[in-house]
Amino acid sequence: MTETAETSRTPVVSIRNLKVSFLRGGTFHTVVRDLNLDIHAGETLAIVGESGSGKSVTALSVMQLLPDGTSRIEGSVRLNGEELIGASPARMREIRGDRVAMIFQEPMTSLNPVLTVGEQIAESLIAHRGISKREARAETLKLMEKVRIPAATTRIDDYPHQFSGGMRQRVMIAIALACRPALLIADEPTTALDVTIQAQILDLIKTLQEEEGTAVLFITHDMGVVAEIADRTLVMFRGDPIETGATPDIFAHPEKPYTRALLSAVP
Ligand code: ADP
Ligand code: MG
Repeated sequence: MTETAETSRTPVVSIRNLKVSFLRGGTFHTVVRDLNLDIHAGETLAIVGESGSGKSVTALSVMQLLPDGTSRIEGSVRLNGEELIGASPARMREIRGDRVAMIFQEPMTSLNPVLTVGEQIAESLIAHRGISKREARAETLKLMEKVRIPAATTRIDDYPHQFSGGMRQRVMIAIALACRPALLIADEPTTALDVTIQAQILDLIKTLQEEEGTAVLFITHDMGVVAEIADRTLVMFRGDPIETGATPDIFAHPEKPYTRALLSAVP
């Protein structure tokens, strides 16, 4: 490939030779090996593979959220060129707040049940954009409209349990966007949702990502979702990245039998 201005830019996230092991029964067992990936601004990379293949561990490695003492991480994880492996806890807190945001499968567990959704979005805005409490309500409404929560002016004072699963995921996306992340990590964000709602959330992530130029690391076990959202795809099997490439190429010419098996499950 020729080096153009596009390809020579520093990736938002760059992982080299990632190896993650967990302590179990007195020895370290490796659950992710030899993982390499780059994601540039405005790009979406999907990691796909069955349950237990090491997808979430990879995401947690980027956030440096693996358990202390019982895990070991080797290799390199760079965010905009800055090495994160071995970064101080204080520096990681800054990075997690300011440059990387994460959304998960079940938004209810990440939302605070005793605060209104408006308060939670506002909290994130105040923490990350340095705006005043007074400005926060107007900005919160703007964000709620951006993630297409209908009737935002009335719903801003509702509590998480008053929202459907799809609407709660929109709230989580609003909270994530409040910090204007360079990288959004989405770990199975649509898995718990109905198919129609799933499509709406994927559409939303795609639109926002195009508007904001965010890099997205999208984790899923579903090749149908990959087809919808990912520019490039990395297939994992039991801790090994076994195939990677442009999504249309993977769909047209899957090299590995495992990838073909995953594809045969797509309706
Ligand atoms: P998935 O692809 O389903 O997201 P994970 O990345 O969560 O898979 O898990 C990969 C492997 O690592 C699994 O075998 C899992 O049991 C193991 N694992 C994940 N987190 C921990 C942990 N905190 N301690 C020990 N083992 C873990
Ligand atoms: Mg997982």
